[in-house]
Amino acid sequence: MKARMQTMLTHFGEENIHGAVVPPIFLNSTFVHDSYEAFQEGEGYYYSRVANPTLDVLEKKLAALEQGEAAKAFASGMAALSAVLFHFLKQGDHAVCSTPAYGGTFGILGSYMHKFGISVDFVDFRDTDRVRAAIKPNTRLIVCESYSTFFMDVFDLAAIVAMAKEHGLHTVIDNTCASPANLRPLEWGFDVVVHSASKYLGGHSDVIAGAVISSEAIIDRIVQTEYGIFGGALGPFEAWLVTRGLKTFGLRMRQHADSAMQIARMLEANDQVAKVNFPFLPGHEQHALTRKQFDAPSGLLSFELRGGKAAAVRMINRLRYFKIGVSWGGFESLVYSPGMSGGHEQFAGTDYEPRLDPLIRISVGLEDPADLMDDLRSALEVPA
Ligand SMILES: *Cc1c(COP(=O)(O)O)cnc(C)c1O
Repeated sequence: MKARMQTMLTHFGEENIHGAVVPPIFLNSTFVHDSYEAFQEGEGYYYSRVANPTLDVLEKKLAALEQGEAAKAFASGMAALSAVLFHFLKQGDHAVCSTPAYGGTFGILGSYMHKFGISVDFVDFRDTDRVRAAIKPNTRLIVCESYSTFFMDVFDLAAIVAMAKEHGLHTVIDNTCASPANLRPLEWGFDVVVHSASKYLGGHSDVIAGAVISSEAIIDRIVQTEYGIFGGALGPFEAWLVTRGLKTFGLRMRQHADSAMQIARMLEANDQVAKVNFPFLPGHEQHALTRKQFDAPSGLLSFELRGGKAAAVRMINRLRYFKIGVSWGGFESLVYSPGMSGGHEQFAGTDYEPRLDPLIRISVGLEDPADLMDDLRSALEVPA
């Protein structure tokens, strides 16, 4: 009998140590052995840059959450993503990545990889024909995200995987935005899932962490190469914090989904709002595909105001419960607008560019949704 998600998260992957109901934290850097022979026959713990029992607990839960064979925890989502990209790409290779992409992803693929002779094309994955057209003889990797950054576009995962298989390409997806509560890309045929556990997996805005989930063979190879060599291991205390966050993951995600749905409907009905970027709304142009792929929404959505940038600035400054800040996925509601900071080169000259300044992104937290809606409604009221 296979336990369902929230049951699995309770104890799965935890060894019984002195009956401790919460797994202890192994803060040690090194592991000693009783003899020369015992060292040679050791069970895998030598040095915490490579393996640590506190990380094992988290890694087992993450693998089970994503229906993968194995997982490895990294010091951040970017450490996880970088290790995966360097694992699959070498000099002369080409990758195709979805756009708009998370800023860090655009940073490493859009410019940093060039110094190793790796080229990348960013493509609108809503149109799978464009992805196909971008594939070249030296293409090795397809990279995409469960939702595009800021605009929450979704992509036809089955079509992307089929195309990659046809061309013998590996597929990597950043599933941070949807989370494994709502989407399990390995079930759709993706080779590798990457996460920033700093968001929903941790859930409490108190830890930076990342993870890679895949087959045993791929995880083993990454551990033997990029994991140990780059040294991006997660610290044991941070791993423990993510494991603690996971105890309530299923419950939190249900509340995020429920509150976000109520808020999206309210915003859609407000005549100051030009568009709500939340594909779970029945009127959204990608609604059918969204229902096919995702079990439920997360708490992330954005909307665009008819009043443009001035209206966005006014609304953001009037919000009380939604705090102004980057990141998302925590217990607290946050608001951010791309107009608040630079570094959006990937949008230059695209249809998305004029939509950035009037766009407000919110991370719907775990506060009472009625209070959050009151907050949004009163911030939208035009001052007398
Ligand atoms: C936050 C985030 C990352 C980076 O993760 P860190 O833990 O901040 O390094 C990568 N991808 C997405 C989609 C993210 O939201």
